[in-house]
Amino acid sequence: MFDLAKYTKDLSELFESSDRILIISHINPDGDAIGSQLALYHYLTFKGKKVAMMCPNNLQEFLKWMDGSKEIKIFIRDRKKCIRMIKEADLIIMVDFNQSNRLGEAEKNVMESSAVRVVIDHHLGSHDIAKLLISDPTVCSTSELVHGIVTLMNGEPFNNKSYSEAVYVGIITDTGNFEHGAYSGRTFRIVADLLESGIDKGKIIDVVYNNFSADRMKLLGFALYQRMTVLSEYKTAYIYLTREDLAKFNHAKGDTEGFVNLPLSIKGINFAVLFIEKENFVKLSFRSKGNFPVNEFASKYFSGGGHLNASGGEYYDSLENTINYFLKVLENNAEILKGSI
Ligand code: 5GP
Ligand code: MN
Repeated sequence: MFDLAKYTKDLSELFESSDRILIISHINPDGDAIGSQLALYHYLTFKGKKVAMMCPNNLQEFLKWMDGSKEIKIFIRDRKKCIRMIKEADLIIMVDFNQSNRLGEAEKNVMESSAVRVVIDHHLGSHDIAKLLISDPTVCSTSELVHGIVTLMNGEPFNNKSYSEAVYVGIITDTGNFEHGAYSGRTFRIVADLLESGIDKGKIIDVVYNNFSADRMKLLGFALYQRMTVLSEYKTAYIYLTREDLAKFNHAKGDTEGFVNLPLSIKGINFAVLFIEKENFVKLSFRSKGNFPVNEFASKYFSGGGHLNASGGEYYDSLENTINYFLKVLENNAEILKGSI
């Protein structure tokens, strides 16, 4: 059993002794990265701490409504200010990641800073990037973990609307609105408290999930109709999108979010992959059902990582070569995939 109280005591002492706290979320932040970052921010500022927030790159539109999100400084947009914030911080809290390359272009500055570094995370595998590592892969989201920490520190659930919204967004986005991931009875007890604290769940679902452009819907149709290959013998299906495809549908950041999950709804498919062509590399997303470990697949073949059933990685080659390489390594995993349940 993960003993959160043990870590919370150390973390409380660090908060007590720090004058400038910087909370950092990971590159291409998802709802859980921003949710856990904002939840901690709202709690600490309420407690009178001086807190700054930074993210390596831009937030997607569906997260920009969240209270406090405008306070998050973007490293690639506001480099000078971010470097100053990193230099001035005496405590850096990194949420929802455990590998330094998830800091993107901020990696060097953060890793060379003299501040005490803490990681709060729920991904598998630990890397030596912090003095204090609080990692619990049994929770559905880093937001759930932050909520556990804050509740222990506060002595009772912290009753604040902006905070509750942030925790709720982290939980729903990392579980696909309670469809996958490590959510549990404990998650629902937290959600019950959040709902009773007065958050507007209808509004949140609407801004998070029903906020797409018509172009994005058409891109989805195109991806499924023209760009999906089903390899039944491997219980695998993959989708690829070229830069040209994305341009044709006026692609905006975040448009392909969720595409990778869809092939898993095909009967008999346990492994789904999405290839997105970038300027000089290919970004891959992996999802699985059951026991096929996509985090191991991502780290072994595509310099990535993540969770048992949701991971990602990248490959520095053309899209065509990446797909060919993928098909080769898929063959190496044929027996595991055929036996996957
Ligand atoms: P997504 O496919 O939604 O981008 O990512 C799914 C999961 O895999 C997330 O938990 C994310 O943190 C992780 N992930 C995605 N891309 C990478 C990557 O390049 N490296 C690592 N280590 N994890 C990744
Ligand atoms: Mn997460």
